[in-house]
Amino acid sequence: MNYYIDTPQFRHHLQHPLMKRIVELKERNYTDKDNYEYAPIDFEDTMDSYDKVLEVVGEICAEIIEPNAEAVDQSGPTIHDGRVTYAEPTRRNLEALNKAELMGMGLHRKYGGLNFSMVPYMMSADMVSRADASFQNIWMLQDCGETIYEFAEEQQKNKYLPRIVKGETMSMDLTEPDAGSDLQAVMLKASYNETEGQWYLNGVKRFITNGDADIHLVLARSEEGTKDARGLSMFVYDKKQGGVTVRRIENKMGIKGAPTCELVFKNAKAELIGTRRMGLIRYVMSLMNGARLGIMAQSVGLSDAAYREAYNYAIERRQFG
Ligand SMILES: Cc1cc2nc3c(=O)[nH]c(=O)nc-3n(C[C@H](O)[C@H](O)[C@H](O)COP(=O)(O)OP(=O)(O)OC[C@H]3O[C@@H](n4cnc5c(N)ncnc54)[C@H](O)[C@@H]3O)c2cc1C
Repeated sequence: MNYYIDTPQFRHHLQHPLMKRIVELKERNYTDKDNYEYAPIDFEDTMDSYDKVLEVVGEICAEIIEPNAEAVDQSGPTIHDGRVTYAEPTRRNLEALNKAELMGMGLHRKYGGLNFSMVPYMMSADMVSRADASFQNIWMLQDCGETIYEFAEEQQKNKYLPRIVKGETMSMDLTEPDAGSDLQAVMLKASYNETEGQWYLNGVKRFITNGDADIHLVLARSEEGTKDARGLSMFVYDKKQGGVTVRRIENKMGIKGAPTCELVFKNAKAELIGTRRMGLIRYVMSLMNGARLGIMAQSVGLSDAAYREAYNYAIERRQFG
């Protein structure tokens, strides 16, 4: 089975006249062809590579992720000594996508990514969700890399983006016990040690999907004495540095394979992304644009799976002769 091939709507949408313009913008007049062997030379070549990669995604979804989904839902992730372990089949899913070099799908080739536009990227997210909506959460969080790509220093991009492409996972740490919809109330404290030239994070985050990820984007209050959005900055925390533990995993009704975590930051070393005070006003706003598309694709994929289940059952179940 193949989720891409059994859904002709994908190929239909890829033929939309706007695709030409979308690809042109993403490929910047195909200049990458001089520097990267696998970069497309023109529109047709790009569409051909979208088609081939989507077919690989469709196969992995149908043959590996979907057969694993029930076991993921039953066992789920576990927590031990402040660290999260994914359900074993979740790890196998990640391995399969990694092996097929499908991490960092939207990231620039300079960092090892495929430089795919949003359309095939979201089609992939849709298929992954149809196979296992919880795994889509984990996989889709790689999109936080876009915020690093857009706003971080070149040295930070070189440090983090190739790691995402190689399969390290991400999380976006925004919500706190007293700051959900009202993100300008975030209180997790970022303090700068002048002598060390180092930022430290202290506080609690709640409801963080994939909260034990390798690389975190963290919204924190860097300006002492402030109470609104203008005192918040964006940081990147690298799990290798230590300082963040997982206090608990939420017991949810669904998407159980994606750990929703409460995190405790204790003197966690972090790096500032971009400019101070722009954390919520600029960077989170941009981050959420990608996250919203991801949740949209998750909903469509999940609904598609539910529809197919119901349809097959209705066709198969005979009543009154
Ligand atoms: C499964 C799951 C995964 C999540 N993953 C992440 C993650 O990865 N990273 C992260 O940072 N956060 C994550 N969250 C947190 C999520 O972003 C918050 O739950 C969300 O922002 C809402 O905040 P809250 O739960 O505090 O609800 P509240 O803000 O307290 O809202 C409660 C209710 O009040 C309503 N409401 C709020 N403000 C207003 C208003 N001004 N006017 C009218 N109605 C209002 C809301 O619509 C809602 O119905 C996750 C949550 C869940 C459930």
